[in-house]
Amino acid sequence: MTSPTETRRTELVEQLMERYPHVPREAVIKEDLLRGGMAFDPSALSDNEGGEVKPKSYFIFSFDHGTLPELGEAALRRPPEEIVLTGGPYELRRTVVSVRVNPSSPYRVAADADGVLGLYLDGRRIADVGLPPMPDYYRHTLANGKSVMEVAPTIQWGYLIYLTVFRVCQYFGAKEECQYCDINHNWRQHKAAGRPYTGVKPVEEVLEALEIIDKYDTAGASTAYTLTGGSITSQVQGKDEADFYGQYAKAIEDRFPGRWIGKVVAQALPREDVQRFYDYGVRIYHPNYEVWDRRLFELYCPGKERYVGRDEWHRRILESAEVFGARNVIPNFVAGVEMAEPFGFTDVSEAIDSTTEGLRYFMSRGITPRFTTWCPEPTTPLGKAQPLGAPLEYHIRLLDSYRSTMEEFGLSSPPGYGPAGAGRAVFSVSSFMDSLRPGSEAPEPTSGRKG
Ligand code: SF4
Repeated sequence: MTSPTETRRTELVEQLMERYPHVPREAVIKEDLLRGGMAFDPSALSDNEGGEVKPKSYFIFSFDHGTLPELGEAALRRPPEEIVLTGGPYELRRTVVSVRVNPSSPYRVAADADGVLGLYLDGRRIADVGLPPMPDYYRHTLANGKSVMEVAPTIQWGYLIYLTVFRVCQYFGAKEECQYCDINHNWRQHKAAGRPYTGVKPVEEVLEALEIIDKYDTAGASTAYTLTGGSITSQVQGKDEADFYGQYAKAIEDRFPGRWIGKVVAQALPREDVQRFYDYGVRIYHPNYEVWDRRLFELYCPGKERYVGRDEWHRRILESAEVFGARNVIPNFVAGVEMAEPFGFTDVSEAIDSTTEGLRYFMSRGITPRFTTWCPEPTTPLGKAQPLGAPLEYHIRLLDSYRSTMEEFGLSSPPGYGPAGAGRAVFSVSSFMDSLRPGSEAPEPTSGRKG
């Protein structure tokens, strides 16, 4: 039996599908799953690295709606990294969704009487669920016994190798950490649970894990790697941010020239540092601006405001286009935090207007931002203040605005995100790629270092 609240969720989803018919239905379901999470029946969990399903790697943040001790069996037998939805009453085309666990979500992944997995909303089956098979390269370990999943996990159905090489952030504590970010907490909780979780990944370990991926990814699904981790405000192992993250790109490009497209997520750095990233072999730069509104940026990103400042951050984003080319500078924002209590917009239209102003600022200069859907993790100040996240209507209208702003400025989807369009996209942490026109994706940048 469904409660009135649960029934309203189905109604909300269907109303939005009706009001925004040009936003794919797949994207409506995906955004709702990303903002509010999904519950897992034990039958839908993985058996960690010993099973047949690719487990959730916790590649940077927890992206869960509970702490590990609150997740019950899902903490012991990890959920899958992603699920793929098809069919059902909404006739969903293939939709890849990153897994965010929420035991109290009205969405539930469970097996039916015949053992066939499905996604249930308010108790009604709305899609068939496919799980990612365990990749061959996860079945091998490094010489020191570490798993490939720990050192070089892949996401986006195997498209992206996610190298969080520095598992903590030097923006530390309430006065510096971004208010929606649980990177430091996630590091602590994995340590507390006794899981392997390397703070700084040695370059040689990364290369060894990539060697295994290169050898066993015979289908060639892996296309790009992202170097990322916390901000470095001083040094790590005697290196500043550009040299620390850049050393991995250099080593990867030396060993596997042009094998993958190199991306880095880092602070908006001065031009000389950005040039060093490029010279090391990075081809896509993500100096994430997080939230557009000035007041909210200052409140939500106190570390970024303190060390760089919003205006300078934006200036450096524009400047970095001179090094990477505007198409290859792709700053991220966290969609939804602008509606977080107690400081955020309370009106969806105002939030969309603000965010669209930011999109126009960058897109009018040929820079295409992208976004991830905010997951209100419970140990973060914003997640505590607003555990239900932003309204679904906000997310649907943002998809609409993103696509029309991109089209207004004659841009295609940012490079390095795989195919665009419902039924084709693999980008799993927001549905911006699902909601673009099929075939509208940019050509992939040339990988590797010059000279
Ligand atoms: S810069 Fe902000 S979002 Fe990025 S890891 Fe540090 S605290 Fe988290």
